[in-house]
Amino acid sequence: MGADRVRIIAEEICRGGRQTAQGHELSGARTNSRNAPSGPSPFRVEAAALPREKFADPRWTAKGEARGTVPMARLETLWFNTGTLCNLACATCYIESSPTNDALVYISADSVAGYLDELENSALPTSEIGFTGGEPFMNPQFLAMLEDTLDRGFDALVLSNAMKPMRRHEARLLALLEEHGRRLTIRVSLDHHTQAAHEAERGPRSWEPGLAGLKWLSDHDFSVAVAGRLLPGEGMEAARVGYAALFASEGIAIDAGDPARLVLFPEMDEAADIPEITTDCWDILSKSPADIMCATSRMVVHRKGEPGPRVAACTLIPFDPGFDMGETLAEASGEVALNHPHCARFCVLGGASCSA
Ligand code: SF4
Ligand code: SF4
Repeated sequence: MGADRVRIIAEEICRGGRQTAQGHELSGARTNSRNAPSGPSPFRVEAAALPREKFADPRWTAKGEARGTVPMARLETLWFNTGTLCNLACATCYIESSPTNDALVYISADSVAGYLDELENSALPTSEIGFTGGEPFMNPQFLAMLEDTLDRGFDALVLSNAMKPMRRHEARLLALLEEHGRRLTIRVSLDHHTQAAHEAERGPRSWEPGLAGLKWLSDHDFSVAVAGRLLPGEGMEAARVGYAALFASEGIAIDAGDPARLVLFPEMDEAADIPEITTDCWDILSKSPADIMCATSRMVVHRKGEPGPRVAACTLIPFDPGFDMGETLAEASGEVALNHPHCARFCVLGGASCSA
């Protein structure tokens, strides 16, 4: 897709009502956020509405076929959601983060330490700890949990928008870089290689600070990656070419051809129609359940109103009780029924993984 076409799509975004991934109008608190974009996302999924009867039963699809499941293979990556509060209120944030949404409260450094203790006292082969939000650097105890993680010898992957909340911690980040080098990776969400599409999704004045944060990380030789997205009709190749040109012009040391350094995600929309995943799908698609994210990862969340953290099946479905796996990592090692549209669109049909 040419740059002009990309600009036109970003500029043509209509000014109608905005909907969440669940299909309901965004709350006033979120749409009224100072940082919220004023129109719908340029990345929105165009599809018919999801029929009610789909993803209704963990064992059977709407057609009565056996639903696909993913057994835990080995826990390679343990994620922590640091809390849903964010300095931004992006149009299609899958977790509906904003400066006021604390549906997932700030997880404490003590809670994180408890799970790291469980990892160290178990035979689990986990080597990577991931942190996502919201914006992790807004959690007042985030640097403490990050230091604890690295001091214990785990690799750390932090998803950030690289804006002011991160920049406040430059001195401590440089100290972590000095001590732990490239065992710390920061993956910056830069939704598109054009300012117009990025700001249509992330809100006005989000481009320059995000790019400056990314450049700061690159200039100081952090292990850095970018998470990007594709506009409708924009192919992977074109997107990588677009990001490569941006990285070259900004002097950002990321190889846009490396899928681990420029991660391009499929879109998610749980209100849009998508086929359900049956036990036959693995053969049909020549895929293995072992390659799906929840075969090798879990995410710890602390939901508002609950007494303590819980373990969710994955980073994408933090609230659905059907994907709550228990309180401890030992409890959370069971198989996952793929009973959510994200399982189909993002993981099985989109082929994405949240790991570095
Ligand atoms: S920066 Fe990330 S967490 Fe924050 S609103 Fe945007 S997508 Fe959501
Ligand atoms: S969305 Fe989560 S639970 Fe569903 S297949 Fe993907 S990783 Fe597994």
